[in-house]
Amino acid sequence: MREMTCIVCPNSCTLKVEEQREEIVVTGNKCKRGREFAAAELKHPMRTVCSTVRTVFPEAPVVPVRVSAEIPKNRIFDVMREINQTVLTVRAAGGDVVIRDVLGLGVDVIATSSMLQSFAELKGEK
Ligand code: SF4
Repeated sequence: MREMTCIVCPNSCTLKVEEQREEIVVTGNKCKRGREFAAAELKHPMRTVCSTVRTVFPEAPVVPVRVSAEIPKNRIFDVMREINQTVLTVRAAGGDVVIRDVLGLGVDVIATSSMLQSFAELKGEK
């Protein structure tokens, strides 16, 4: 028996998960998404990553980024290392790719803010 918290919605149901032969038995879930979450969590847990990346622009030394899709949970620290080693040298807009296909995972790291472009506009650079 394993206990885990469902992170699919803000209800945060406490799930009790048991593998019985070929079947996964889940209790404590208020909806079927909890069962799907528990099954995925047992077999191949995935997570999203949100962070910040450094830039060369003094007015915005860091900008927020996230992965474009969930990545395997056991690769979070590897992806964070890549993000931490990256320095943005272009004024990326929200949605722009900052790291393409990070670590060959088939997922990009993308900017989630257009603040670098907004600062450029304020300075009359655009
Ligand atoms: S089991 Fe359903 S209701 Fe409960 S946290 Fe997960 S998604 Fe939300």
